[in-house]
Amino acid sequence: MSTIKADIGVYGMGVMGKNLARNLARNGYKTAITNRTPSRTAKVMEEHSQEGTFIPSDSVKDFVESLESPRVAIIMVKAGPDTDAVIDQLSEYMAEGDIIVDCGNSLFSDTRRREATCRERGLHFVGCGVSGGEEGALWGPSIMPGGSKWSYDRLGPMFEKISAHVDGVPCCTHVGEDGAGHFVKMIHNGIEYADMQVIGEAYDLMRRAIGLTPLEISEIFAEWNKGDLNSYLIEVSSEVLKQVDAETGTPLVDLIVDAAGQKGTGSWTVQTALDLSVPVTGIGEATFARGLSSSPLQRAAAQGFEGKAAPWAIEDKDAFIEDIRQALFASKLVAYAQGFNEIQAGAAEYNWHINIGDMARIWRGGCIIRAGFLNDVTKAFEKDPELPLLLADDYFYAKIQDAIASWRRIVSLAALHGAPAPVFSSSLSYYDGVRSKRLPAALIQGQRDYFGAHTYKRIDKEGTFHTLWAVEGRPEEQWS
Ligand code: NAP
Repeated sequence: MSTIKADIGVYGMGVMGKNLARNLARNGYKTAITNRTPSRTAKVMEEHSQEGTFIPSDSVKDFVESLESPRVAIIMVKAGPDTDAVIDQLSEYMAEGDIIVDCGNSLFSDTRRREATCRERGLHFVGCGVSGGEEGALWGPSIMPGGSKWSYDRLGPMFEKISAHVDGVPCCTHVGEDGAGHFVKMIHNGIEYADMQVIGEAYDLMRRAIGLTPLEISEIFAEWNKGDLNSYLIEVSSEVLKQVDAETGTPLVDLIVDAAGQKGTGSWTVQTALDLSVPVTGIGEATFARGLSSSPLQRAAAQGFEGKAAPWAIEDKDAFIEDIRQALFASKLVAYAQGFNEIQAGAAEYNWHINIGDMARIWRGGCIIRAGFLNDVTKAFEKDPELPLLLADDYFYAKIQDAIASWRRIVSLAALHGAPAPVFSSSLSYYDGVRSKRLPAALIQGQRDYFGAHTYKRIDKEGTFHTLWAVEGRPEEQWS
């Protein structure tokens, strides 16, 4: 075994772990590596040992012993029981004050549990979100570490160095205690679902309404990428739509089965939002839209259903395309606003001190939702760290005002002509709901009190009220 001690170690030489280890080594950190199946560690040494200083081990004991104290061991394996198994193996050899960092996509509640267990053993546990896929891990991801401030003091400089940088600023910061890092990564992924879906809705409307080809839409997206919508996901979408199948000459997108997959982080975001009572309609509809696309039985049963929709007859195509762009941007802003509200609610519930402006800042580079407008989000939260709704910031309010007429036209046209646009339309409903002075919730409170004596509050006096809702023909013994 090597006598040099490593600055940091990575357990798991899968796609992400290997690239993260290479990134660390390339940046000058002596990096210990290991994997359950040793041949994968050997392959990394074979192919990449010249990129920096790697210290390979075939056993967990050797791996832990090769680390400088206090030891920092990153785990990059599948979330769930596999992660628990690796934590158990590492803790057997680690000593008080050592740090285990889980960089997989773990559920934040698992991270909270693991952090508590490790703390009892005298170990530090950091749940750390990493976004950017394979390329990001290798060249600079967006990194969202939770855990103690003490752990961040040890880890932070290394993670900041290997992260993406925008305007010289690292896309990494200490998010908050215990599960805060994985919580924020979960919301990042939820927002990613909504962002992808709104781009999909824009694409679909351009095809259905004005018959544009994938290549034409690719060019429109490339153009949009120069303005407010500048983002990695618009760029990726433009690239995907441009691809032609070499064998058939058909746009590749037309040969791909239209059933969207998911690994679960969108559902986690929605489930958690329900627990926290935060309306994340954009992320929710995007997650359900993937579910609908992947429901072959229901889709088969509904083929041939009459829509009684008016045929499309768009005269001014350029104006229509601009309306779609505006609807996309407004719906995207709503989805982000809702995601930030979920972070605020999570921070309040779990007592994390999360700076939302910093989250937007570390998402500007390296990650899948990187986008130009995140600079303006950071500014909005710098101006008011307690901003209750992104759309209430002057800059974003003005953007919504620019978009609103287009957004309404697109949502109504989609409904009239029978095109699904779940995130465009639910986001507009959210906007109209949140800006309403009175909502039908008053009637719901009445209904709840009627059948369940759940009580209600009044606008004209303090207190809690219950009414004996006498209804003609309803016997008194059924009251309340
Ligand atoms: P991967 O390529 O499938 O590699 C999985 C790794 O986990 C392998 O090294 C495997 O070892 C190891 N492993 C699995 N079960 C194990 C166990 N019970 N004990 C010990 N080792 C075990 O996975 P990946 O794409 O690198 O993803 C790793 C983590 O990163 C996941 O949590 C994923 O969600 C997260 N993530 C992925 C991406 C992405 O774009 N791929 C982005 C962000 C985060 P063997 O070689 O022995 O099988």
